[in-house]
Order: sequence, then C-alpha cells, then structure tokens
Amino acid sequence: MTTQGREYEQVLYEETAPKVARIVMNRPSRSNAQGITMTYELDDALKRACFDDSINVIILAASGDHWNSGHDISGEGPNNPSPDEITSLWGSSYHGKGWEGFYAREKEIYLEISERWRNAPKPTIAEIQGSVISGGMILAWMCDLIVCSDDARFRDATAAEMGIAGVEFWQHPYEMSVRKAKEWLMTGGWMTAQEAERHGMVNHVVPREELSGRTLELARNIAANNPFTMKLVKQAMNFAQDQMGRKAASDFGFHLHQIGHMQAMLVNGVPIDIDSLPPKMREVARKTLAARDAANDAATSALSE
Ligand code: ZN
Repeated sequence: MTTQGREYEQVLYEETAPKVARIVMNRPSRSNAQGITMTYELDDALKRACFDDSINVIILAASGDHWNSGHDISGEGPNNPSPDEITSLWGSSYHGKGWEGFYAREKEIYLEISERWRNAPKPTIAEIQGSVISGGMILAWMCDLIVCSDDARFRDATAAEMGIAGVEFWQHPYEMSVRKAKEWLMTGGWMTAQEAERHGMVNHVVPREELSGRTLELARNIAANNPFTMKLVKQAMNFAQDQMGRKAASDFGFHLHQIGHMQAMLVNGVPIDIDSLPPKMREVARKTLAARDAANDAATSALSE
C-alpha cells in the first residue's frame, strides 16, 4: 500500500475506535473548501481505509464550524491534478483548447471521483455540522449514511446564483422528492437539518455536542457486523438505486451542468452567470473581468506599437 503513512496538508486520518477510520477535512479557515489538494488527499485517505483490512467503517467528518463550503474557487493551490494523481484514463488534456480542458477537469475531479467514492465498498458515514454549500453536497451525498447536528443546513446555490443546473454530481431527485428537489434548486434556499431528515436526505439529527459520539456509536454498531456482508448490502443498494435511473440521470445532469458553464462562458467570458451572482460577488466579478480586459488591451496595443 503506497498510501500508508502519507502526510496530508488538509486532511486528518484517525482510527477513532477499533475497525473505524475517521477522515477529517481539515481546512477550517476556508470552511473546508475543496480544491485539488483536498480532493486527492481525500482520495488517498479513502483508499487507505478501503485497503486496510482492520477497518470496517469510514466516517467523513470536518473541522471547524462548517462542514463544507463547496469547491474552492479562490485560485489558491493547484488548479489541476498532476498526472500521477489523475485516477481516470482520460489522458492529460487538462490544458486542452476551448472546452476540452475544463471538461476533462470537471469530469475527473467532480464526476468520476465522486462516483468512485460513492462506490467505495465499505460503509461510509458523513458526520455533519454547520453549513454545507453546493459542492459540499457532493461529499455528503457520496456517503451511505448521514448524521448531522441540529444546526446543520444544506444549500445548492448553483442554479440560483451561477447559472448552472445543479452541482456536477447530480443526485438531487435521488436524495429527496422530485418536487422538493425542484424547489430547493430553483430557489437556492437553505434546507434545515430537520427538513433534511423529513425528506429522507439524512438519517439522524442530533444535538451538536453529541454529533461525534452518536456518529461513532452508529459506526461501531455497523463495524461489529460481518464486513463482507456489509459490502454486499452496500453494493446491492447502490445497484438498486442505479436501476432506478440514478447513474443515467447523474451523467445527464453533469452534461447539462457543462452546458450551463459554456453558456456563461459564451455570454460573459467566465464559466458562471455573472448576472445571477449576489450583488457583492457580481461587483467583484465585474471588476476582475474589467481588469483582465484592460490588461489584454494594454498587451495588444504594446504589441502593435
Ligand atoms: Zn462545474
């Protein structure tokens, strides 16, 4: 196993109880925003837990007040995975022209990796506190079970604020009713922990101070069972959900997500719809674009002198 003992920057790997691994997203200063570094550290940590025969159940937790603020769009850290990190066989077209590079990137780090994590054979439990926004929903949904604190809340802002028809890993109608999913996406509103439990998206809502203890209790309960049987249960349930159209809908949703990005790129020159952004962010985006255009104009006139 190459992953054993690897040092992580943004992830903690703990064995909190016999047979239970706890993977912690540990970037609290950015509310655990998921960039390339975190993505591949999570992938490595998950692989490590899956290959360790002494581990039966995996908890996905997060440091700080909020579980996950979504994909990191700050520009900090690497923008693309290195060739030795890439998990698919798509090749190295991450810098391809037109939409090729963007598509390769999103296909690898948001669609295929999410699907790979969702199908990790061992039972996974999300331990969620605070806010979960947009891309963070993917990390919650990839887990088999979800325990959240009573102050947890959930939001996919991509449709209401970015011109995109939902996050890349498009599971919405399989996580709640179709009618609720439509309302949730079309308004971009918050879903409380209690609502999430009512809609069947989470298993348990518990007081914040009991979150880790109650999640571990559930993990230990499952970890005591025959691990091969638990893998078969998971496989059967995931297969059944796929027969209900989940995989096909997910792939279709991913490609509509790409159309949303492309439309925004054609209209605005950036892959999100500037007019849909909240006023403050819209101002920042417009200033950034104006600065970029001015720099391009200056470079063009310098060349023609
Ligand atoms: Zn995207």
